[in-house]
Amino acid sequence: MTATFLDLGLNQSLIEGLKKQGIEQPTSIQAKTIPLGFENRDIIGQSQTGSGKTLAYLLPIFHKVDSSKREMQAIILAPTHELVMQIEKQIKTLAENSGIPVKSAAIIGQVNIERQIEKLREKPHIIVGSAGRILELIKRKKISAHTVKTIVIDEGDRMLDENNASNVKDIIKTTMRDRQLMVFSATINDRTMSISKELMKDAAVVKAEEQEKLNPNVEHIYLLAEQRDKIEILRKLIAAIEPPKAIVFINKSDEIDITTSKLKFHKLNAVGIYGTAEKEERKKALEGFRSGKNQLLVASDLAARGLDIQDVTYIFNLDLPAEPKEYLHRAGRTGRMGKEGLVISIVTAKEEAQIKKYQNAFKLNIEQKEIHMGALIEPGTKNEAAKKQIKAKK
Ligand code: AMP
Repeated sequence: MTATFLDLGLNQSLIEGLKKQGIEQPTSIQAKTIPLGFENRDIIGQSQTGSGKTLAYLLPIFHKVDSSKREMQAIILAPTHELVMQIEKQIKTLAENSGIPVKSAAIIGQVNIERQIEKLREKPHIIVGSAGRILELIKRKKISAHTVKTIVIDEGDRMLDENNASNVKDIIKTTMRDRQLMVFSATINDRTMSISKELMKDAAVVKAEEQEKLNPNVEHIYLLAEQRDKIEILRKLIAAIEPPKAIVFINKSDEIDITTSKLKFHKLNAVGIYGTAEKEERKKALEGFRSGKNQLLVASDLAARGLDIQDVTYIFNLDLPAEPKEYLHRAGRTGRMGKEGLVISIVTAKEEAQIKKYQNAFKLNIEQKEIHMGALIEPGTKNEAAKKQIKAKK
């Protein structure tokens, strides 16, 4: 039998609070992490995006926070603004639904620091934000790191890469030695593993069930196309499938604009999300997509990292990511929480070798298809009998 939240030791307020959010059964990563979290163990947690990792670390924090104290008690570090906002939203929802008066603050770069300092005067219990700005505020003594008992690093493989690791390490150094450290990521590379272990004492390595990593509800196919025909193939696919919401992935963030324009030129209802653009613009793009106003979201791996968008049933890869793990990250945007999903890669003959690489890396079955008269068919079988009409997964 699978454990319940009660079995895991969660208090009644949290159990009731989760119920209001429609959450009744712990996911695999939650079942494995929560008891360790209660024991103050340092944790390296590997689980795919959409598998409930945010609550896997938030629930032990909520359980342990002393909300009667006006004291900063936990720091959560995440790589993108959207992910920070999503985590903060989950904190606020849980606080409201459980009635546990945990206060939080989102601290991200490129916004007015004075307002953040103002917010920090209220001594939020949980601070969630980007490493650079949090470090700055610790140095300016606006964040009191010595009262912090838990640090979480979300999207660990990104947060501990060459660009970010030094800020993260500096933050950790300012906290007390007996603080708890949790690192979570969909994939844990060697570097993340060794840095995490360096920073931890007696780390518990936790992996979500293997089959969860490869979501069985997500299918994978690919179509061959000349580079210059890719958009046209995409247009045909969209017309055939009519996906309610789909993400179109490309590799380079600086081509999001031009790709979005090309899709719009083909009368496709697309919006681009940028890695570097103004916060407001990103927010607007996401809102348009979330609300269903825009059918397609054009993104790069960087721009889409960690985003939790519900009901995405299709992923289109216009470029293939160089790294197999990025392919997995992209696929993780769909098929969330038991829903179905389809990942469709449009590849050149040259890129086809990479498809084979993913197949081997993840023991995936990625079948080749063709689009013919509005239907996806086996290659070379353009007769009616072999035509397999593919239904939109709504
Ligand atoms: P995450 O992996 O943290 O991005 O979570 C993905 C989504 O799953 C979020 O929308 C959560 O609200 C939802 N979720 C988290 N835990 C559970 C659970 N135990 N049961 C059902 N949904 C959940």
